[in-house]
Amino acid sequence: MVPSRWLADEMVGRLARYLRFVGLDTLYARGLSDEEILRRASEEGRILVTRDRALARRAPRAVLLTSPRLSEQWAQVRAAHPEVPFEVRFDRCTECNGLLRVEDPASAASWPEGVPRDRVANGLAIYRCEACGHLYWEGTHTARIRTQLAVWAGEARE
Ligand SMILES: [Zn+2]
Repeated sequence: MVPSRWLADEMVGRLARYLRFVGLDTLYARGLSDEEILRRASEEGRILVTRDRALARRAPRAVLLTSPRLSEQWAQVRAAHPEVPFEVRFDRCTECNGLLRVEDPASAASWPEGVPRDRVANGLAIYRCEACGHLYWEGTHTARIRTQLAVWAGEARE
């Protein structure tokens, strides 16, 4: 199955990050005009997530979010698109939506700051964003995200 592509408007930046955490190609429409949002959603086949009712109505595919709460926004997205996964994947940069690739930190001129040497020695995978260079690995932050997604998955089953 081809994973869905998304476009999050300016008001739902946190939701955009979660869509990227689960590996989905998610454009964040910071600074884009309504016309540009609609054009890109249409040309790139993206599902628009927005709190703007008028904008949602004009988009080819949209999820209109009726709550300011992230958990309820996630539930709405999942209700409309059950194919959205609950697992954290190291596919997309949560900062810029760039693609991640596996990085060998030992190949850098100097050891990247913050990367835990002992855990890399034990097989920890490091990923680098091809677009902005941001580094990712399994750590306390991803553990928190995973826990949050698990809670939402539990709520979805109730
Ligand atoms: Zn990036």
